[in-house]
Amino acid sequence: MKKQVAVYPGSFDPITYGHLDIIERGLEVFDQIIIAVAKNSEKNSLFSTAERISHIKEALGNNPRVTVDTFDGLLVDYVVSKGAKVILRGLRAVSDFEYEFQIAQMNHNLKSEVETLFMMTSVPYGYLSSSIVKEVASLQGQVESLVPPVIKKALDEKFANREKDCGRNHD
Ligand code: ADP
Repeated sequence: MKKQVAVYPGSFDPITYGHLDIIERGLEVFDQIIIAVAKNSEKNSLFSTAERISHIKEALGNNPRVTVDTFDGLLVDYVVSKGAKVILRGLRAVSDFEYEFQIAQMNHNLKSEVETLFMMTSVPYGYLSSSIVKEVASLQGQVESLVPPVIKKALDEKFANREKDCGRNHD
């Protein structure tokens, strides 16, 4: 039987327990998941694409059913190039809906054979986003329950360095 492959695209800046929950549950439905880190999100990101990939790999451990890759250009072209037919996305609060609906419709217009499937967030992660994690971490708040240890460490380092740089600027 043909393997069912889904592409899970996103910025993952950084990966959170909300993303990991979607991946774990996605693996109950699909044989293989390709996590596709968007390269075009590099400009406004806290972590470089290489850092984000390394974090995702460390957070996932060794699972032969999950691969981590990057893409730029049109997502639907990338999906087809990987022999996949499904884009997996997570849905949180109502605020996600309009944006996701627009993108899913556009992707459907571009390549009708590619379907977008949404997985509802698990309750504990309903309001968890990479942006909120970065904001809390930048203000020295606790993020242990929101992100895997590799990310907690990376955030600590990133913001410690930033503080050092700011301190230097004030000297
Ligand atoms: P993007 O910039 O493409 O939205 P993100 O890394 O923010 O990239 O999100 C990637 C995908 O993961 C999106 O479909 C998003 O809705 C989903 N996602 C992010 N956080 C959560 C969460 N807490 N619960 C469920 N889905 C989530």
